[in-house]
Amino acid sequence: MKFEVTILGSSSATPIFNRNPSSQVLNINERLYLIDCGEGTQQQMLHFGVKASRIDNIFISHLHGDHYLGLLGLLSSMHLNGRTKPLNLFAPAPLKEIIDVQLKYSETVLQYPINYVFTVPDKANIIFDNQDIVVESIPLDHRIDCTGFLFRQKKRNRKLLKDKLEEFNVPIEYYTALKKGVDYIAPDGTVYKNETLTSAPEEPKSYAYCSDTIYSETYFSQISNVDLLYHESTFLNDMLERAQSTYHTTALQAGQVALKTNAKKLLLGHFSARYKTLNELLDEAKTVFPDTELAVEGKTFVIEY
Ligand SMILES: [Zn+2]
Ligand SMILES: [Zn+2]
Repeated sequence: MKFEVTILGSSSATPIFNRNPSSQVLNINERLYLIDCGEGTQQQMLHFGVKASRIDNIFISHLHGDHYLGLLGLLSSMHLNGRTKPLNLFAPAPLKEIIDVQLKYSETVLQYPINYVFTVPDKANIIFDNQDIVVESIPLDHRIDCTGFLFRQKKRNRKLLKDKLEEFNVPIEYYTALKKGVDYIAPDGTVYKNETLTSAPEEPKSYAYCSDTIYSETYFSQISNVDLLYHESTFLNDMLERAQSTYHTTALQAGQVALKTNAKKLLLGHFSARYKTLNELLDEAKTVFPDTELAVEGKTFVIEY
C-alpha cells in the first residue's frame, strides 16, 4: 500500500525566497491528506502536481499563521472549482469562527459541507479512521494550543498463498476466514494449518508529524517506534534559549527525540528564516541520530511502496 509524504512547505514563521510555511501532503493508498496549510500552499500544490479535488481530509496543528493562512484560499478555490463532496477539517475549535467570518463578509456560501473535528490540546485522541489508517492527535507543548498527528496503518489481513490453495483444493468461500487466520478443515477432516495456506502481512507503518513544540518528553511514549518521524527543528542548538522562550525545538533536540522514541528515520522541518542554508541543522541532528533528512519543498519520502 502506498504511504508517502511530500513536503510543500518547510519554513517557520515567515517564508523566504525558496521556502514556504508549513504544509505537507500524505498519499496513503492514493487518498491525499493535507497536514497544515501555510500561506502559498495552493501554489505549491500546483507546482508539485497535487490535486485539491483529491483531498478529503485536512489537519491543522494550531492557529499560528504559518500553519493555516493558506487554508481560506484553498477552501475558496475548492468552492470555485465546483466541489460538492464533504471536506473533513481537523483543527482547534476557533478555526471555525475564523473561516465563518471570512465567508460571511465575502457573502460566500460554500457549495460543499465542512465537517469539523475539533482537536483538544491536552489529550491524545483518535480523530479519524478509515479502512487504511487511524489518526491520533498528539498533544504538544507550544505557546498556544497545538497538536501533532500520528498516522498509523491498520493491521492487515494475512495473504493467501494461491499455489497452496489450489494444491489442497480449498473452496473459495473459505478465503475470507483464511485471511483472518482461521485453519481450513477439509471435507475428509484433514486440518490444514493457516500458516501453510497464508503468509503474514507486512507490519503496519506509521508517520508522526510533530510541529510546533518545545522539547518535551510528554508525547514520547505515543510516538515510540514510528517508521518516520517529522519533528520541528526551528533553530540550531546555540539558540537553545530562544527555542525555549518561543516554545520551539533545536535540531540537536529533534535528533534526541528520534533517538529516545526509537524512530526509524527522522525528518527535520520548520526552519527559521535566519538559516539561508540548512546543512548545519542537518549535521547537528545527525550527531545524535544519523538517519536524518531535511523535509524540504518538493521532496517525497516513502514510508511504504
Ligand atoms: Zn510554526
Ligand atoms: Zn507555532
